[in-house]
Amino acid sequence: MFKLKDLHIRLTSSCNMSCPHCYAADWFKDHTKLTYDEVQSIVFQAKNLGCEKVILKRFS
Ligand code: SF4
Repeated sequence: MFKLKDLHIRLTSSCNMSCPHCYAADWFKDHTKLTYDEVQSIVFQAKNLGCEKVILKRFS
């Protein structure tokens, strides 16, 4: 069975910088932010897949 080793969650897609080479610039247009409930749901789903490590991140 598949086992998820770790999970990296970007809590927001916004960034204060405007680097010309940015690979994620298109993502910033929506300024998507995960809610607490969404993060909680993702973490519980990951736990059920065997995940033991969760890393919460933001852009830059
Ligand atoms: S995510 Fe990184 S590369 Fe993109 S604009 Fe922000 S700092 Fe620059």
